[in-house]
Amino acid sequence: MELDFLGAAGEVGRSCVMLSTDQNIVLDCGLKIHNKSDPHLYPQPPPLPVDTVVVSHPHLDHIGFLPSLFEHHSPRVISTPPTKEIGELLLLDSAKIIIEEYGTLPYKRSSHKKAMESFRVQGYHQKTVMGDTTLTLLDAGHIPGSAQALLEYGGKKILYSGDFKLSETRMHKPAEITENVDVLITESTYANRDHPNRQDLEVQLVQRAREVVSNGGNLLLPAFAVGRTQELISIIKSQDKDLPVWVDGMGVEASRIVTGYPSYIKDPHAFRQHMESVNIVREPRDRSRVLKEPCVIISTAGMLQGGPALGYLLSLNERSEIIFTGYCVENTNGHNLLQHGYVEKEGEQVRPSVPIRYLDFSAHASRSELFEYVEKVNPGKVFCIHGDAANCTQFAEELKVEGFDAYAPTLGEKVQLD
Ligand SMILES: [Zn+2]
Ligand SMILES: [Zn+2]
Repeated sequence: MELDFLGAAGEVGRSCVMLSTDQNIVLDCGLKIHNKSDPHLYPQPPPLPVDTVVVSHPHLDHIGFLPSLFEHHSPRVISTPPTKEIGELLLLDSAKIIIEEYGTLPYKRSSHKKAMESFRVQGYHQKTVMGDTTLTLLDAGHIPGSAQALLEYGGKKILYSGDFKLSETRMHKPAEITENVDVLITESTYANRDHPNRQDLEVQLVQRAREVVSNGGNLLLPAFAVGRTQELISIIKSQDKDLPVWVDGMGVEASRIVTGYPSYIKDPHAFRQHMESVNIVREPRDRSRVLKEPCVIISTAGMLQGGPALGYLLSLNERSEIIFTGYCVENTNGHNLLQHGYVEKEGEQVRPSVPIRYLDFSAHASRSELFEYVEKVNPGKVFCIHGDAANCTQFAEELKVEGFDAYAPTLGEKVQLD
């Protein structure tokens, strides 16, 4: 057996690992998003013909480069049903944005179509047998339908965590645990820090929303379409069902899809009720109405790259406020606004005058959860990826002190197992 680390080694973005058993299995195939001046980064091409791709969840750093595999291979793609449907939506949108920004796609349109036709969905705990290798998907607690991939071959167990969360959120139960695996490939995003107490954050967010709204402003929450939009709706509506909330951008369609998969969320009944009590922006002219009404606006994009959120930001009145609730990659508008106070619009730097805050509602495991996960999974060998280089290396070093055989691979590294 062998592992090829084709992406997300010492970085967040372009997740892609190839496991070779009697089958060549690619775990995720994402891209690393940059802004206009910098091209996106892609994983290295797989060295062998790919039989199967497992998509852990449809965030673009895990699915965004999937079509490229169909230029030279014809693998089947396995994911949960929500990952397939949401993945289709996000891939189409990402193709549109890439063309807008760079004028051309990094893969053929026909490959995009082939990728979509090659999905075989499977629920949590169901098994797919591929030759002598068996695949089981397990709940990762990160976003609706997110999965860890457990592969069994020759009496060995290999677990790929994908992105996961080990504590409960409004939308999800904690990630499931598989004990005593031989090899674990784990994300390491927040290996260096714990997140603030979630309940406190929820109270703070809703308090701030009430204050801004009663003062006549808009509270703008830029949010990822999948996961964060639904979590924010649930956080706000479960605490104050009368607070006016508008939802705009691709989060609307993503929320509709999520509602169709009740078994992939913690409390589908409550979520349906919350969805019924928010207002949906159905056409562009609704936006001027939204801006005239004191309310909360949950809008894509989470990092202000594309989507209507940037337009809202530039039109807010002086009683308004913006709160980021998620990670913003360097060089994105979200990052520039948080760190330097500006966004870019048509090549110009614009400095919004409203207060900007950040509340850390992460959908990833915190430092203590990462250690707890590794201790419970109790792997014979652990590979730390999906974190910046310093985080992955430090995490592996600390795991070694705890007695684990841990390692942070570098991009393109090949590791023999057995
Ligand atoms: Zn993710
Ligand atoms: Zn990720």
